[in-house]
Amino acid sequence: MTRLRVALLIAAIGVLTATCARNPVTGERQLALVSEAQELELGKRSAEQVRASIGLVDDPELQAYVQRVGKALAANSERPDLPWSFEVVDDPTPNAFALPGGYIFVTRGMLTYMDSEAELAAVLGHEIAHVTARHSVQQISRQQIAQLGLVLGMILVPEAQQFGDLLGSGLQLLFLKYGRDAERQSDELGFRYALQQGYDVREMDDVFATLQSISAAEGGSPLPVWASTHPDPGERIARAQARVAELPSLPDNLRLGRTEYLSAIDGLVFGENPRQGFFRESTFMHPELRFRLEFPEGWKTQNLPQAVVAVSPQQDGALELTLAPGAPEEAARQFLSQQGLQPGPAARETINGLPAVLARFAAQTQQGALQGVAGFVAHDNRTYRIIGYAPVSRYPALERAFLQAISSFAPLTDPDALKIQPRRIDVVKLPRAMSLDEFARAYPSAVDVKTLAILNQQPDTSTPLPAGTLVKRVVEK
Ligand SMILES: [Zn+2]
Repeated sequence: MTRLRVALLIAAIGVLTATCARNPVTGERQLALVSEAQELELGKRSAEQVRASIGLVDDPELQAYVQRVGKALAANSERPDLPWSFEVVDDPTPNAFALPGGYIFVTRGMLTYMDSEAELAAVLGHEIAHVTARHSVQQISRQQIAQLGLVLGMILVPEAQQFGDLLGSGLQLLFLKYGRDAERQSDELGFRYALQQGYDVREMDDVFATLQSISAAEGGSPLPVWASTHPDPGERIARAQARVAELPSLPDNLRLGRTEYLSAIDGLVFGENPRQGFFRESTFMHPELRFRLEFPEGWKTQNLPQAVVAVSPQQDGALELTLAPGAPEEAARQFLSQQGLQPGPAARETINGLPAVLARFAAQTQQGALQGVAGFVAHDNRTYRIIGYAPVSRYPALERAFLQAISSFAPLTDPDALKIQPRRIDVVKLPRAMSLDEFARAYPSAVDVKTLAILNQQPDTSTPLPAGTLVKRVVEK
C-alpha cells in the first residue's frame, strides 16, 4: 500500500463519526462508524446503483415471489422495521448480497441452481442476518474508503482505474467479504429465521453442496462468490447438518415449497444472456444494439453492464467501449475537455459507413503519463465511444491494435447473431418414473446430463425419479 493510500484511509476514517451503538442481534455495545440514518441512506443509494448498473430481471411475478418470501423472513428478525427489499438482479453468476439498511439482492444465476423455496429462504435468511447483525455497517465503512480510493485513481474514465485492476473492478466493491465469524453468525441466524417460517432447514446444506458442485464441474474453478467467502464450504455443510441434528425435535410439516419455487423460476434465463452482447472469439456482437467490434486477439475481454473492456496480455494497454452522450462531435468535445487531459488532433472520419470522430489525447494520471486514441461512432441514434490507452512508453507499440479495434466497429448484419436467444430453464413434470439419464434422452436439453444433475441436485443420474417429479432442463427458444 502506498503512503498516499494510507493517508487517505486515515482521512476517511476521521470523516465518519464514530458512535457506540447496541448491536440489534447480540445486544452488545459496539463501535459503529455510521449511524442508523447513515446506514439507511447509504443502503438506499447503493441499491439504486445496483439496479442501474446490473439491472433487475424483468419478471414482475418472479420479483414479487422473492419479495414475499424475503419479507416474511425479515418481519420476524430483530430489525423488522427496516425498509426491507428483495430483488433479483440480471446476472448469471450464482450470488446473493446484502446492502446496509435491508436491501437484499439475489442473482438469477443463484435462482436457477436452487430447487425449493426452503433453499431460497436459507439464502435470503443468511443475507438478512448480515443486515440485522450489522455486519454490513462495517461494509459501509470499507466501501466508502474503497470508493475514496477509486476517486483518486479515476482520471481518464470513471470506469477504469488501473490496468491490472480494470477487469472485475467496479461492482466487485459491492461484494465485500465479511469475516469468518460474521459468516458463521449469519448462517446461524439465517437458519433460525427460516425455521421460524416453517421452512425445511435441512435444505440449507443443499445450497452449499450445489455451489460446490458448480465449481467442481467447471474444472475446479474458484467457488461462486457466495460460497467462496467462506473458508471451508465442507465445514459449512457439516455445521448446517449439525444445527438440524441439535434441534430437540424437527417440527412436523416443514415446508419445502418445491412446486411454488419451480413454477416461479420456470422460463428464467440460464447462463449468459446473449441479447446483452456476447463474444465470438475476439469479436463482440450486440444483437439488441446491432453492432459488432473486433478486439485484438489474445486480449482479456469482459462484457460489463456499462462497458466492454479489454486488456492486453501484458496488461500494458486497455480498450474500452461505452455509450457516450450526444453526437460524435459533442461526445468528443466533452471527453477531450476533461480535467487532466491534453487533447491532441481530432478529425472527422467514416468508419464502415458510420459517421465518426477520431481523436488523440494524453493524460497525467496517478499511474504516470498515458497516451491514447478515442473513436466516437454514430450508429442507430447512439454514439459509441471506443478508447484505447497505454503508458506513453508502450503506446507506440499498441497504437495499431487500438486503431484496428476502433475501425472494426460496424453494424451487425449476421442474421444468426441478430436472432440469437438466451437459454432458459424449462420445468417438466415427469409423466412416468425415469432417471435423469432417460430424462435427458426423452426431453432434449441444451446442457449435458452433468449440468442437469447439478441443476436438479440429483448427483445420481441412473436411479429413476418418481412420476410427477418436477425436473429442470435447459432449452433454447
Ligand atoms: Zn454471507
